[in-house]
Amino acid sequence: MSKVTVSFEWLSGCSGCEIGTVDLHERLLGVLDSLDIVRLPILLDERGYPEADLGIVTGALRTEHDVECLHRMRQSSSKLLAFGVCAVYGGPQGAADANTLSEICEAVYCNNLTTATHDVPTEGLPKLLEGGVRPVSSEVDVDFFLPGCPPHPYYIAQALGALVRGGAPEFGAHNVCFRCGRRMEKSEVGELRRLHQLTPVDDVCWLSQGVLCMGSATLDRCLAPCPQRGVPCTGCAGPSEHIVLEPNRDIRTEIADRMSRMTKIPREAVVAEIERRARTYYAYALASPVFRQKPTFLFRRWMAGGGN
Ligand code: SF4
Ligand code: SF4
Ligand code: SF4
Repeated sequence: MSKVTVSFEWLSGCSGCEIGTVDLHERLLGVLDSLDIVRLPILLDERGYPEADLGIVTGALRTEHDVECLHRMRQSSSKLLAFGVCAVYGGPQGAADANTLSEICEAVYCNNLTTATHDVPTEGLPKLLEGGVRPVSSEVDVDFFLPGCPPHPYYIAQALGALVRGGAPEFGAHNVCFRCGRRMEKSEVGELRRLHQLTPVDDVCWLSQGVLCMGSATLDRCLAPCPQRGVPCTGCAGPSEHIVLEPNRDIRTEIADRMSRMTKIPREAVVAEIERRARTYYAYALASPVFRQKPTFLFRRWMAGGGN
């Protein structure tokens, strides 16, 4: 059987998705037997864009250089996979959209103790996109999407295996709660709490304990490591399917409805807290046009209110 040629491109991202792929460990060997990798920036000194059966793009569109590279990937790849929440939704750098480009450059190059120049460079750097961060599907057609920050190796292996066999990855649409194992139950808790303000109960849902957890509004592409290990979910794998597909659903309303039914905490208090910490909870998908049509368009106003 002839091998499937695969080309990788790394746009504006953090390399975590590449590390996630290496985390396949010995399962990677099974996949590699069927692949001929023709381009992989962190491993191969290939500057061009060879023709490939499958193109895999990580990272978001942040610069004009990213846009050019993405088009070259699309032109040279028969099928294109957007890999990781940056490529699918814009990822955590979307949180920078709460600021203007000049504010971002000032913070990075001028008001930064570790920057040598203290000036915004005008040469030698790709120009930032005027409209802010964007997911790759805002620029080219994408055949397959695999969110996650990074996706868990379990899902990476399934996706690569299906694509190598010439099929399409088929995943369930479960949210993080499906894998969490904590028990949702009614409680008398009357106010929101942070982790340091309670003695946590290991097998009870964080929402029941008065702690914000985004698991019920987040797609499972991670196998729920955080709530299983004592940390609430912040939603890094990207929103659950019904949040994406339902025009009137939003992270705030979803979590606030659920939490106010399970506890004595008023719905309005949950909404206000999620807005206050919007840079954390909305970061991963904020750059997606889908979310800009939701109440997320008020993000800058929430941030102006002093959120983190
Ligand atoms: S999706 Fe997450 S791990 Fe992958 S490049 Fe973006 S920030 Fe890094
Ligand atoms: S809301 Fe969080 S803690 Fe509760 S079941 Fe879902 S993932 Fe687990
Ligand atoms: S924050 Fe949530 S979505 Fe991200 S890895 Fe943890 S459990 Fe998964």
